[in-house]
Amino acid sequence: MGLPVHLLNDYPSWLAHRIQQRLGCHVITLNAEMTMQAEHSPTLAQMIHTAELVIPDGAGIVLYLKLHGRHVDRCPGIELSAELLMRSHQFTPPWSIFFFGGAPGVAEKAAEVWKQKAPGIAIVGVQNGYLTPDDQPAFLERLKVLQPQLIYVGLGVPRQELWIAQHRYMCPNSVWIGVGGSFDVWAG
Ligand code: UDP
Repeated sequence: MGLPVHLLNDYPSWLAHRIQQRLGCHVITLNAEMTMQAEHSPTLAQMIHTAELVIPDGAGIVLYLKLHGRHVDRCPGIELSAELLMRSHQFTPPWSIFFFGGAPGVAEKAAEVWKQKAPGIAIVGVQNGYLTPDDQPAFLERLKVLQPQLIYVGLGVPRQELWIAQHRYMCPNSVWIGVGGSFDVWAG
């Protein structure tokens, strides 16, 4: 099938530059489970090919690359996402961030935890991942108005990748990352 993985020395700095320059980007955190899903889903495979940045999230990916002569460090998506949040408020103005996904209350809790941990962080909006079709238009309008610089989408794989691919045109200059269950982890 041949999926891409982008090998960089410093993913956070590459993304920080994209965020600062307002160069839109879809980040995929690739693991073995996702590659198996992509084998059966041409749509998911296409999303992975189209994403501007595919990082080696899983140990299986790192092992596969090693067997093919490429020695790379794992870059877990949750750590990359946390690192960007830590960097976000060191800029003036701080990057604007949106959390979308998780059960009702979870993204709010995760945002509270981050606001405690990183005063000055600019989480400009949160939305749970169980919207009714009736709620969708108002949510999409909110996102369109806010144009957050960094948008985390935690709907699980492959739902989040498909959602990002379908909606990123609404905020074309944003960096979008599928963060899986990260909000649950941060909310504790
Ligand atoms: N989720 C959601 N909306 C849905 C289905 C799932 O917001 O319609 C959320 C769920 O609450 C959880 C996350 O998606 O926070 C999926 O987490 P999981 O650990 O299963 O994802 P993975 O990291 O394995 O992709």
